[in-house]
Amino acid sequence: MSLLNRIEIKTAEEIALMRRAGAVVGQTLEILRVSAKPGVSLQELNAIAAESISSRGATPSFLGYGVPPFPAVICTSVNDVIVHGIPDDRVLLDGDLLSIDCGAIVEGWHGDAAITVAVGSISAEHQKLSDVCRESLNAGIAAMVAGAKLTDISHAIESSINAAGNYGILREYTGHGIGTSMHMDPAVPNYGPAGKGPKLSVGNVLALEPMITLGSAQTQVLDDDWSVASADGSWASHWEHTVAITASGPQILTLP
Ligand code: MG
Ligand code: MG
Repeated sequence: MSLLNRIEIKTAEEIALMRRAGAVVGQTLEILRVSAKPGVSLQELNAIAAESISSRGATPSFLGYGVPPFPAVICTSVNDVIVHGIPDDRVLLDGDLLSIDCGAIVEGWHGDAAITVAVGSISAEHQKLSDVCRESLNAGIAAMVAGAKLTDISHAIESSINAAGNYGILREYTGHGIGTSMHMDPAVPNYGPAGKGPKLSVGNVLALEPMITLGSAQTQVLDDDWSVASADGSWASHWEHTVAITASGPQILTLP
């Protein structure tokens, strides 16, 4: 089956299982959002996430993922780190902009979502950066309807960001299909013209995840082999939801 022409279709029962995984992710992110205060370390947030996921009968998606194996349960990306930051003993400071990415597995099905959190009081510029990224995620979700084309989502995300100002939209990192693996075809770029790629159908499930910076879209992978930072040091935001196309329209699976 060529996934260039077709996106995997899940049954309603499968989507229900994905919603259970997604709820674990959503609940965990809500606990982390409240916990991410000045003085708290990234490792402490990771421990909170591990406890939240296991206490809900789920398994973390990220721990041991990839090469080298990702060493934690969540990604914590601070300020100029955009995605894939590894939680360490860094202590959050007032004014930090933290993105937290979380994935969980229930009965073999994955949920994947990310939020950007204001630590203490942040600047208006950084709050807008996060708001613009979150709003573009909502625009992408709204475009995720049966009969539309895959890149209608991409174009909706990009248009939403560009209408809000001048932001770097990452090109090397994209949204993705998700199901019995965390990352599946197709890639879902956060930019590009509408009307291309496979037609969207009821039963498609995609993780949409715009990543933007206050500067350029150029990135660099840091020495830990995971953290993706902006090349110019500009601060970044990342928001993500796992979303299913149902008969009644797009449904976010990763709500608390
Ligand atoms: Mg994610
Ligand atoms: Mg993802």
